[in-house]
Amino acid sequence: MSHVKPDFGRPVLVAGGGGFIGGHLVAELLEQGYRDVRCVDIKEMDRWYQNAASAENVVADLTLIENCQAACEDVGDVYNLACDMGGMGFIENNKALCMLSVLINTHMLMAAKDAGVQRYFYASSACVYNADKQTNPDVVPLKEADAYPAMPEDGYGWEKLFSERMCRHFQEDYGLMTRVARFHNVYGPLGTWDGGREKAPAAMCRKVIAASLSGDHSIEIWGDGEQTRSFTYIDDCLKGIQLIMNSDLDVPINLGSSELVTINGLVDIVEKIGGIKLERSYNLDAPKGVNGRNSDNTMIMNRLGWAPGTRLCDGMEKTYQWIEKEFVARQQAESHQVSTTTAPV
Ligand code: NAD
Repeated sequence: MSHVKPDFGRPVLVAGGGGFIGGHLVAELLEQGYRDVRCVDIKEMDRWYQNAASAENVVADLTLIENCQAACEDVGDVYNLACDMGGMGFIENNKALCMLSVLINTHMLMAAKDAGVQRYFYASSACVYNADKQTNPDVVPLKEADAYPAMPEDGYGWEKLFSERMCRHFQEDYGLMTRVARFHNVYGPLGTWDGGREKAPAAMCRKVIAASLSGDHSIEIWGDGEQTRSFTYIDDCLKGIQLIMNSDLDVPINLGSSELVTINGLVDIVEKIGGIKLERSYNLDAPKGVNGRNSDNTMIMNRLGWAPGTRLCDGMEKTYQWIEKEFVARQQAESHQVSTTTAPV
C-alpha cells in the first residue's frame, strides 16, 4: 500500500480543536513534532477541553465561508472534527441543528479546495448506517457497504452521510484528497461528561460517581439496558485517524472497536471500577438509539493491518478516574461559592 506523506512545511488545521477528539488530536500532532498546528473552534477558549500553548488557537464559527477561508490559508492538511453534536439525548432532540453542521463541511471543503490543501480528513460516524441493519441487539457487525441503501440516523446521520458523499465528489471532481473515517462511540478523558451532550460511557461514569458520593445508590438507565454497542478508546481513535490520513484509502472506513457490550454490561464495568453496586431503573421513554451496533473491522485490518484493541474495561478505568476528579473539583467549587455568597458580612 502506498502511504501519503504529510507536508511538514505547511500548517495543519484541526477544525473543532476545542472539542474532545480535536483537543487530543492537537496534542498528538504536537507530540509527533508538527510545529505549526492551527486549532479553530466556535467555543470560547476557556471552554476548550485542551488548549495547547504552542498551537495557533482561534475562536471562529466555521459555518461561515470567510472563517473557513481564513482557517485554511497556507494549510497542508485539514482535520475536520467540527460539528454540533452530542450523545443520543442531544441528537434525537436537535435534528435540525445537527443537520446545520453541513454548512461547516461544505464551506471547509470549498475553502480547502481553493487554498490548495493537500489532504482533508472528515470525521464521519457509525450513525450513517442503515437503521434496518441495527434492529437486533444480537448484531451482525456493520461493514462499510451497509450504509447503503441509505437509511441513516435521522438528522445527525443524514448530515454525516451527505458530507461523506461531498468529500467523495470533491475528490473525484476537484482532486482534493479526502479521507473519511466512521467513528464508533469514542470515549476517554477530557471530553463531555455532563450537560446533555455526553455519551453513554461518560454518562455512566458520572451517574456511578454521583451515586457513590451522594449515598443514593440508584441509577437510571435509558432503554432496557439490553441494547448493544461497541466503544472506542480515544488513543485508538487517534492512531486510526493518523493511519487513515496517511493511507491511500479513498473510501469511508470504520474506525471503531469490535468489543460488543450491552448497556447493562457497561454499567457492570463502571460499577466494578467504582467499587459499588447500584439499584437499576430503566427509563423506556428515554432516547436509546438503535438496538444493536458493532463495527466490522475486516476492511481496516485488510487495508491498514490494524484495528482498535484497547479493552473497554481499561479505557473506562482511565475515563472514570478523570471524570471523578472533575466531578469532585466542581462540587468543591460549588460549595465554596455557596459558602462565600452566604457568609455573614
Ligand atoms: P465535540 O463536540 O467534543 O467536538 C466538536 C467541536 O466542534 C466542539 O468543540 C464544538 O464547539 C466545535 N464546533 C461546533 N460547531 C462549530 C462551528 N460552527 N465552528 C467551529 N467549531 C464548531 O465532539 P467530538 O466527540 O470531539 O467529535 C468530533 C467529531 O467526531 C465530530 O464531527 C463528531 O460528529 C465525530 N464523531 C464523534 C463520535 C464520538 O463518539 N465522540 C462518534 C462519531 C463521530
